[in-house]
Amino acid sequence: MRLILLGPPGAGKGTQASAIVKRYDIPHISTGDIFRENIKKGTELGLKAKSYMDKGLLVPDDLVISIVKNRLLEDDCKKGFLLDGFPRTLSQGEALDEVLKDMGLELTRVINIDVEKEVLIERAIGRRVCKECGATYHIKFSPPKEEDVCDKCGGRLFQRDDDTKETIEKRIQVYTEQTKPLIDYYTKKGLILNIDGSKSIESIFQDIVDSLEA
Ligand code: ADP
Ligand code: ADP
Ligand code: ZN
Repeated sequence: MRLILLGPPGAGKGTQASAIVKRYDIPHISTGDIFRENIKKGTELGLKAKSYMDKGLLVPDDLVISIVKNRLLEDDCKKGFLLDGFPRTLSQGEALDEVLKDMGLELTRVINIDVEKEVLIERAIGRRVCKECGATYHIKFSPPKEEDVCDKCGGRLFQRDDDTKETIEKRIQVYTEQTKPLIDYYTKKGLILNIDGSKSIESIFQDIVDSLEA
């Protein structure tokens, strides 16, 4: 399976990604996670990316594309992959087509999770992430057993710097302007699976599996 997860910020891409990669035993490639790891380690890439992320803007295409290109060349991607949060612009989509063409590969499906704006804001504001393992929680919709402690590893939970109301609204605007055109791009290629992201985490996952295996 070679999959893309498309959808606005806070739609539940990361949450579904964790379950999808487990079921199909493929690597989870999240460009947002790659940037956050680099910020944590204090790399040059992390420093560059942070200045855009904190404003709710996209990191420039050339930076993102070369990272994904190198990642797809790694051995574990031979069994397939799930791209989460990439591509996010038409030119990233076109660059991905080129990379896959060079590798002699084709995409299996593009899973498009759609959720209305008010829900996105509520989801993103309440999001908490584990500092150690990256597991995602929500203070109301998916709380950990013990407040601010990760169920999986006992790590501390934190709130992402870009999960403030103001920055989320900016990210939704950026999504509408720069990422949404990709829905049309992949619809024309016959690859889109439209998924209603307003349901529960479990029923969305079931819908995704049903559509992939239909
Ligand atoms: P994305 O990767 O698209 O930004 P996340 O998977 O991180 O989204 O989800 C955003 C927030 O919403 C998280 O706090 C997550 O726990 C919560 N969430 C995800 N899916 C659902 C859902 N179906 N219903 C309620 N809350 C959800
Ligand atoms: P979300 O889906 O909740 O917006 P991500 O973790 O996917 O969160 O992305 C967080 C931020 O990382 C984005 O707002 C953007 O600044 C940057 N980013 C992630 N992926 C890309 C990408 N493919 N192109 C440009 N910027 C990206
Ligand atoms: Zn954890």
